Amino acid sequence: MPPTISELLRRSDQLAAVSDTPRLDVEVLLCHLLGKDRAFLYTWPDHQLNDARLADFYAAFERRKNGEPVAYIIGQREFWSLPLEVEPSTLIPRPETELLVEVALDLPLPEKAQVLDLGTGTGAIALALASERSGWQVDAVDVVEEAVALAERNRQTLQLNNARVWQSCWFQCVTANGYHLIVSNPPYIDPQDAHLQQGDVRFEPRSALVAQQSGLADIETIIACAPGHLQPGGWLLFEHGYDQGEAVQRLLTEGGFKQVETRQDLAGNDRVSLGCYSGQR
Ligand code: GLN
Repeated sequence: MPPTISELLRRSDQLAAVSDTPRLDVEVLLCHLLGKDRAFLYTWPDHQLNDARLADFYAAFERRKNGEPVAYIIGQREFWSLPLEVEPSTLIPRPETELLVEVALDLPLPEKAQVLDLGTGTGAIALALASERSGWQVDAVDVVEEAVALAERNRQTLQLNNARVWQSCWFQCVTANGYHLIVSNPPYIDPQDAHLQQGDVRFEPRSALVAQQSGLADIETIIACAPGHLQPGGWLLFEHGYDQGEAVQRLLTEGGFKQVETRQDLAGNDRVSLGCYSGQR
């Protein structure tokens, strides 16, 4: 007898060593393979998978057992209610990063704001902003060619014609200089950080996670170069580590930014900082 949905769900016990959410992981894998929602799993616990589906399930389950993130296995992750394609060339969008989107949407910006997202990865931040503000023009760049292609696919799938994506190492291939807002979720983890050896991050590209100088090198580059691309009165807003709030506030202030502030995520950790470019360095 082929196993039923409820029998397969019980296998989640085997994921306890690699996941904080073993049951949910198996549910998401099953939903993805069956093309159904979670209600289906609970309505039809005795449903049996056919041989081909079962083989796919076992393959996906083994990958998860080896620690691979669910988002890479199913190739998808939701961010700001947008279904995004993900792949190992980019970071998996995090719920904490939605704070950055919220803060951006609250800024006093014109209806037709020009916005730039640096290191866009899947395109998550840029596409969330473009979906919320149809009058904004949102530019998104990434240094990684595969990420640019991925963000562009996501843009097309979501039909966000007020966003565009191209390849650039930070500001290198950005010619515009009148942005009202520049956002970024840059790499900010210290190369020595033990958490790089644990959980999902082991499978994510180091270039998207790690920065030199205790994780501050790329943030410093962004703060130094942003004034050349911002309108006077334009905003710079970026995500950083829970222990970097004080350091980035100092960098912003020294870089000619006013109204410098740090905001906390739902866990109460410092997570994003922002400043308004005064027009004078
Ligand atoms: N917040 C992520 C983590 O701690 C890192 C994201 C980043 O470096 N931009 O796993």
